[in-house]
Amino acid sequence: MNTLLPTTTAGSLPKPSWLAQPEILWSPWSLEGDALAEGKQDALRVAVHEQTRRGIDIVSDGEQTRQHFVTTFIEHLSGVDFEKRETVRIRDRYDASVPTVVGEVRRERPVFVDDAVFLRGITDRPLKWALPGPMTMVDTLYDAHYKSREKLAWEFAQILNEEARELEAAGVDIIQFDEPSFNVFFDEVADWGVAALERAVEGLKAETAVHICYGYGIKANTDWKAGLGSQWRQYEASFPLLQRSSIDIISLECQHSHVPMDLIELVRGKKVMLGAIDVADERVETPEEVADTLRRALAFVDADNLIPSTNCGMAPFPRRVAEQKLSALTAGARIVRDELARPVRSVA
Ligand SMILES: [Zn+2]
Repeated sequence: MNTLLPTTTAGSLPKPSWLAQPEILWSPWSLEGDALAEGKQDALRVAVHEQTRRGIDIVSDGEQTRQHFVTTFIEHLSGVDFEKRETVRIRDRYDASVPTVVGEVRRERPVFVDDAVFLRGITDRPLKWALPGPMTMVDTLYDAHYKSREKLAWEFAQILNEEARELEAAGVDIIQFDEPSFNVFFDEVADWGVAALERAVEGLKAETAVHICYGYGIKANTDWKAGLGSQWRQYEASFPLLQRSSIDIISLECQHSHVPMDLIELVRGKKVMLGAIDVADERVETPEEVADTLRRALAFVDADNLIPSTNCGMAPFPRRVAEQKLSALTAGARIVRDELARPVRSVA
């Protein structure tokens, strides 16, 4: 990747209305069988087309082939009973009915590899693929078998590693792990969270990223954020550990958040995927607003290591809003890229 400030997204994009009900999260499919398989591929074509047309440098699948960023992956594993449901508290924030781990978890077949092969076939741009992180997977299930979050996370890390290696072989350039749990369970992050993540990336030649955010703009998250005070310092717990880890890229939320910019200094030396687009507000940022966020971040990250991105996924937005936000991101990055390319003139 030779472009300075290559743009990308955290992951999800809205799905077309013929594939799933628009503007809601975790929307069920509108198609089934062969029509669903074909519909997913067409949605991937649209996602690539829109990202390319709007100047996104590192393209993702827009999560067009999955209903939920964690459970769609888990559906492909054995050892989890989706009929047996328990209510658990997710991210220590909201209650949800979740499937139960009833036995040894195993990946019976590749999960997203066929989708990645398809995506690789329709674009020459660098590809980024997101998988759930081990801790966030654990936090989205009821465990009646291992009875240990750490043990279950370790099993998931090995499974994720198998999937990641196959995604890499399919031509994926960056493998991202979504770990919103890292902003909640600080003791566990230090005890085993980062270690499990490193197990998941073991032996990969592709670049690796971890995405840690404050979630989609749903009510449980906005209520939680409202109680976090004027300075969000959650990253302070995980960043020093990640700085010393083998993960290449740290993805964080920044636009309109109360994250103090200087926390980015804690991952100095790593690449930083900086959220310069708010996903909790439909108002489209101006290019100048995006540029301003990027400029301020450059005090704490080298330009070579800055990857302008979105705060989180954009799945719940109307498509028009998400597309305009992609354009704003590209335009904002271009402003700063041009500034950086301009020779510094000495003042006579
Ligand atoms: Zn996110």
